[in-house]
Amino acid sequence: MLDTPQRHVVFADSLDGAIEALARGASVMGGGTWMMRAERRGEPLPASVVLLDRIPALTEVMVTDRAVTLGAGLTHAAVASALKGLSGLEGVVAAASGSANPAIRHAATLGGNLATADFSAADLAPALLVQGAEVELATGGGSRRLPLEAFLADRPTHLAHAILTRIHVPREAAASAHARLPLRKAGDYPVAIVSLARLSGGGWRIAVGSVEPVARRWTALEAAIGDRPVSPDEGARLAAAHMDFDGRDGVEAEGWYRVTVLPALVKRALDALEGRP
Ligand SMILES: Cc1cc2nc3c(=O)[nH]c(=O)nc-3n(C[C@H](O)[C@H](O)[C@H](O)COP(=O)(O)OP(=O)(O)OC[C@H]3O[C@@H](n4cnc5c(N)ncnc54)[C@H](O)[C@@H]3O)c2cc1C
Repeated sequence: MLDTPQRHVVFADSLDGAIEALARGASVMGGGTWMMRAERRGEPLPASVVLLDRIPALTEVMVTDRAVTLGAGLTHAAVASALKGLSGLEGVVAAASGSANPAIRHAATLGGNLATADFSAADLAPALLVQGAEVELATGGGSRRLPLEAFLADRPTHLAHAILTRIHVPREAAASAHARLPLRKAGDYPVAIVSLARLSGGGWRIAVGSVEPVARRWTALEAAIGDRPVSPDEGARLAAAHMDFDGRDGVEAEGWYRVTVLPALVKRALDALEGRP
């Protein structure tokens, strides 16, 4: 007789139902692309999961001149197609349409990409950091919003009794770009990521993913560039001069390598911003 553990799956059709299941000990499952590989990482699969894909509110997209709101249940492919052609959001489109491979992009969700605490190579994290995005979390007691940066810094605490429901993106960028470096082929995790946004009100936001355990803003480089335009070559020079990353060692690359490629990725992102491939 096979000794298979009992697993419990809740197909929630409302947010309240999902929150109830969470309170009963279920783990939230988005696209399952990370969770279903738990055993390959030597982790147990959760005994009970709640699926969110029957909750219509979690796949809504709202676009105005001032902001975009994205449901956390949207897949990477859906994010790319919803935002395509919207000025200032080019970097998010590049991140969502360039991550992983087509099959994964049609399953993995925006919420899962931001919520996975031990996944450093998430493309959407730096792409949304440079947009000044906020996340919305729902609990039994109501909803609250907090800056993406604060959320990323302590996901296990923020998600202990909460579901990530929406991502709010203010439309403050005049243009944005996303440059990633997978070592071998398109489906591999990127060893380093640089996202940047030129803000309509002046100044830049620049963020780095996959180099350290958690994506973060490169404030030293933002300050060095200031309010002025910067050429791709100058951007790369300033990046090398204001390097303050402590690269993580991992199966795809060692830490020193992830840091070393950053100036080239800054140049590549600035080239993309200027419309050069
Ligand atoms: C071979 C492969 C290559 C990949 N390459 C890349 C890549 O290059 N770049 C990239 O960005 N991604 C890549 N991914 C995808 C990555 O795994 C997912 O984007 C993401 O991290 C998980 O999304 P998911 O919806 O599948 O989450 P799941 O696997 O369903 O869940 C992951 C975690 O997030 C939690 N969670 C999910 N949704 C929510 C929510 N709404 N609220 C609270 N918690 C939630 C779950 O409880 C779980 O802890 C790749 C995946 C694979 C399999």
